[in-house]
Amino acid sequence: MPTPAARRAVAQARRAGVRLVRFLYTDNGGVTRGKATHVESLASRIADGIGLTVAMQAMNMLDQLTPVEGMGPVGEIRLVPDPGTFTVLPYAPHAAAMTVDMRTLDGAAWEACPRSFLKRQIAACAAAGFMVRAAFEGEFTLAVKGADGAFAPLDQSVCFSTVGMTTAAAVMDDIVAALEAQGIQVEQYYPELGHGQQELSIRHAPALAAADRQVFYRETVRAVAYRHGLYASLAPKPFVDQAGNGSHVHFSLWDAGGRRNLTHDPRGRYGISALGYHFIAGVLDHLPALLALTCPSVNSYRRLQPHFWSSAYTAWGPDNREGAIRIPSTFASDRAGSTNAELKACDASANPYLALGGLLAAGLDGVKRKLEPGEPTMIDPANYSDAERAARRIVRFPTTLAEALDHLAADRVLMAALGPLLARSFLTVKRGEWQAFSKEDTAFEIKHHFWKF
Ligand code: GLU
Ligand code: MG
Repeated sequence: MPTPAARRAVAQARRAGVRLVRFLYTDNGGVTRGKATHVESLASRIADGIGLTVAMQAMNMLDQLTPVEGMGPVGEIRLVPDPGTFTVLPYAPHAAAMTVDMRTLDGAAWEACPRSFLKRQIAACAAAGFMVRAAFEGEFTLAVKGADGAFAPLDQSVCFSTVGMTTAAAVMDDIVAALEAQGIQVEQYYPELGHGQQELSIRHAPALAAADRQVFYRETVRAVAYRHGLYASLAPKPFVDQAGNGSHVHFSLWDAGGRRNLTHDPRGRYGISALGYHFIAGVLDHLPALLALTCPSVNSYRRLQPHFWSSAYTAWGPDNREGAIRIPSTFASDRAGSTNAELKACDASANPYLALGGLLAAGLDGVKRKLEPGEPTMIDPANYSDAERAARRIVRFPTTLAEALDHLAADRVLMAALGPLLARSFLTVKRGEWQAFSKEDTAFEIKHHFWKF
């Protein structure tokens, strides 16, 4: 018997005249891939899923098959969609999409499934008495492709400039309309510091929906720009001499019913509760390892430099834009509702399920151990002396993907949360990327990150 959500998805597909429905998964390399079913078989495919070779979770972002035991040419899993995510795609004719879980042939969550990993962390937080709401704050760079095949920024406008609004007006309007048509509420827009760079933020949602939205957001931005003859790069550092693209994670903890923001305490420092600080302290404590999940591409480490407002140290502070975690000032009309923390050390090359799942696991560990984040940082942490940073327990992030992966491999909490198969396949895929890019030059790195996420 089809579930009500499945029935609704099929009816919606029929009403909208959809022909192909994409089943989207995001792999260990952070790339969203999928297979589509014809609408005729949609109902049965929702129940059965679409087959996928197990090898795809050993594939890196260069389509190189890395050596993960058990992920070779033999073996299948099923991409089983979550019909609640059914979305008619405003940027592709007669097409719709759903995000999927990877399941074994007998229907269990596959141990290498990133979305199931996030679900497990959500359940662990629920068992500890809270749910997490989150939003990825997207930045991206609009570019044109020249006759020689090289990308150039759309414009040379300065930060927040109305000239930048003018050059990007038509495409931004279409992107906003497309997000709205998919039920994704846009919050703010402005041209950012980098040439051709845009920031477009969306409303927060419960963690699983926030990760699903990041998938739909990336798809939408890239596809709508393409229809305008433009390339939208969500890569962390698409142009080496320009500001990088962050995908900061705003997060807050709520009670089980989602009505009370448990991060908020009017008597707490900067309005943050004890629970909020424990969670933040857990994230900071695990950050050198967590970075392997939130900033997981070779290109990510070109972005995470001091003085670029991307964060480069494990510091936190109120409205400190060089802190790994910023406590944003709240708004007078809704102090409780607008209380949140912002992890700046995240970018859109991250698989959003792995990034958010890792964030939840790290934060939950801080809650369980009642960790404290120490003193807030009120200046750019890069401007402290080494001794001052040491006294404040502020450390520089790993400066390469390889270093971050070593931290992850040594982090017992995050490794246990991922589970052996997901951890092993992720580390192997990412080490494969590191090795491949290490042999090549910067131009190769940019080319292969520019239009992938
Ligand atoms: N573009 C900056 C980054 O790489 C963020 C700038 C800001 O929004 O404060 O994260
Ligand atoms: Mg920004």
